[in-house]
Amino acid sequence: MKYVIVSGGVLSGLGKGVSASSIGVLLKSAGLRVTAIKCDPYVNIDPGTMSPFEHGEVFVLDDGGEVDLDLGNYERFLDVCLTRENNITTGKVYDNVIRKERKGDYLGKTVQVIPHITNEIQEWIERVAHIPSDGNGKVPDACVIELGGTVGDIESAPFIEALRQFQFRVGQENVFFVHVSLIPVMGPVGEQKTKPTQNTVKDLRGLGITPDMLICRSKNPLVEETRQKISAFCHVPPGAVVSAHDVSNIYQVPIMLDAQGVTQILSERLGFELPPKRPVLEDWKKLADHVDSLEEADEVHIAVAGKYTDLSDAYLSVIKALQHSSFEVSRKLVIDWIESSDLDDEAAEAKPDAHAGAWRELRAADGVLVPGGFGIRGIEGKIKAAEYARENGVPYLGVCLGLQVATIEFCRNVLGLEGANSTEFEEDTPNPAVVFMPEISKTHMGGTMRLGTKPTPFLVDDCKIRRLYGGADHVDERHRHRYEVNPDLIEQIESAGLKYVGKDETGERCEIMELGGHPYFVGTQYHPEFKSRPGKPSPPYLGLLKASVGMEV
Ligand code: GLN
Repeated sequence: MKYVIVSGGVLSGLGKGVSASSIGVLLKSAGLRVTAIKCDPYVNIDPGTMSPFEHGEVFVLDDGGEVDLDLGNYERFLDVCLTRENNITTGKVYDNVIRKERKGDYLGKTVQVIPHITNEIQEWIERVAHIPSDGNGKVPDACVIELGGTVGDIESAPFIEALRQFQFRVGQENVFFVHVSLIPVMGPVGEQKTKPTQNTVKDLRGLGITPDMLICRSKNPLVEETRQKISAFCHVPPGAVVSAHDVSNIYQVPIMLDAQGVTQILSERLGFELPPKRPVLEDWKKLADHVDSLEEADEVHIAVAGKYTDLSDAYLSVIKALQHSSFEVSRKLVIDWIESSDLDDEAAEAKPDAHAGAWRELRAADGVLVPGGFGIRGIEGKIKAAEYARENGVPYLGVCLGLQVATIEFCRNVLGLEGANSTEFEEDTPNPAVVFMPEISKTHMGGTMRLGTKPTPFLVDDCKIRRLYGGADHVDERHRHRYEVNPDLIEQIESAGLKYVGKDETGERCEIMELGGHPYFVGTQYHPEFKSRPGKPSPPYLGLLKASVGMEV
């Protein structure tokens, strides 16, 4: 097993995840089976209880693990399916160690950060690296490990120490350290400054890790003088000081790294063959160039009515799924973010300009998407967006909460069920259209939703969404919710034309909705975006894009 460990310095948000996933692509291009692990030093067991303001999107895996959004990057870049164990947090590590202590596994010993916590981390990494992840059941050859946070944080110290020791556990010839840093530009001539990088590498070396490669994030390509200076001060050969300057799209990153000899260096240092032909990389190049070419293409506008609209990380997988679909229909994607609370009647009074602006954008869009969400803020605006799309024949995709608001809207405005609502937003609504699922915990919030992949059989022979899934008899998609369409109302709703064409295996729980006689009005209780891949866009998203550009669905 070859391990590539990616740490970061200077500041967060440098694109460490994209650098690490791109390295994964390069390893894959050399014919290795690649998996990935993300270490997050926070004390939460997982990000499932964190707000998108804190942590961006919560990514959901097949096994129901609620994990860091970087695992989404790995799944998309490497086309793998990871497990909850591929995201290691301080919370999970301590939880395990404390359980073992209670069992008596360390009997007679004082349990300490070193060696007990650091050993737990190393054992965890070694075990998880060997879990097959590409669907072929074979053990991976290489594992990319990304360390969250920046080097020098108090909470990441046990992880750094564990990774320092790890090279001796598995052999130094099998471990390669990459450090991602920032090269800011100053002054009128735009001088590339190396001091922050010098300092972060000094911190890392002080902790016992000498990087084998530096990936330097910068606006423009590193100039030779900068490269030489970094090499001299950071004890890294000049060839391994790599420029990660801004590129036109993220698919260009693996290509850019490869062009600077990164794959060559990895193969020499880790001892694997670099085949003369690498079709994986050629396909990437085609994808990256196709994405560039769409800059000139006609635009397709998708209005996303959400509540974290100035925080795009909150909807990262939604954005990716829309992008993947736009590549397929060869259009330039423009996402118009609409703060859903600006669409409701209260906003018309309280902030008329924002209200008018939001409606202008909604009306100008080719398609509408209401993404997943929790809590009452912005709900009435989302219901308005669904109403607008239904009444005006505008393509609509509702994801999870988006299916629920479309159902509420339909109950209110088509069935005339006054004040219909979800019990999530109004406990004693006169017409509960969406209700709490009976099996969900009322006392514990962490990891207790209906989570992960569950099969959804189709119940209708011919409908748009089934055709989009290639006529499959069922779909396996990922869930994350506590509420469902009220089973008592289904018959009434369906008889008015909104059909639940897919239900769960019990045949009771609504999973996929589709409105007849509309170009595309679809909702899914699951989150199809989590399984979307470049080159294999998620079918419900592809349907939205196709309908939005006027293609037959
Ligand atoms: N809040 C809703 C529920 O819990 C929707 C969840 C979601 O959109 N992920 O069912």
